[in-house]
Amino acid sequence: MKLVLASGNAGKLAELRALLGEGFDLHAQSEFGVGDAEETGLSFIENAILKARHAARATGLAALGDDSGLCVDALQGAPGLYSARYAGRHGDSEANIDRLLRELDGVADADRSARFVCVLALVQHADDPMPLVAEGRWEGRILQARSGSGGFGYDPVFFSPAHGCSAAELAATVKNRDSHRGVALAQLRMKLRQA
Ligand code: IMP
Repeated sequence: MKLVLASGNAGKLAELRALLGEGFDLHAQSEFGVGDAEETGLSFIENAILKARHAARATGLAALGDDSGLCVDALQGAPGLYSARYAGRHGDSEANIDRLLRELDGVADADRSARFVCVLALVQHADDPMPLVAEGRWEGRILQARSGSGGFGYDPVFFSPAHGCSAAELAATVKNRDSHRGVALAQLRMKLRQA
């Protein structure tokens, strides 16, 4: 099955290729000269579907869209959809973490609950009324300060009680398996087998 990934991110492409395995010929939308979709949805699901439809419409192929982010309860779900650009500039993780710690200044550990969310959506064509949707959540809490140097994004301030450390202190293999993305991918693979 030839499938286009609604992203130009080489890391995501490699990770998804490995996880989807045999039977899927996955290509980045950038290979077809397709740019990013406008993320106008109000939820991860809406944006994942919107991205998949955009890639399918531009290429004529089945497409996989993804959206992910961090939701903090004490901040009514923020940074949420705006996780990548919480501090203004897209992808500035240090500034994003600084803002998050500032917003949570004075909030006790017990009230710092949060989760990473990842949604994957697969459409067979641009107007597919039955997208295959998979969602993964990773429960944790926001630390008072950074801990660990691995991973990316908010990993240094995301404490996972299930592992007893921050996401930035986990081995990559463990994080890839247990994270929101790992769980969503496993669910998508199962749904694809059943489809
Ligand atoms: P996207 O899925 O590339 O749009 O990612 C959205 C943003 O959410 C990223 O830029 C990160 O700030 C954050 N994020 C998503 N997944 C993770 C993760 O596994 N660790 C840390 N930050 C993440």
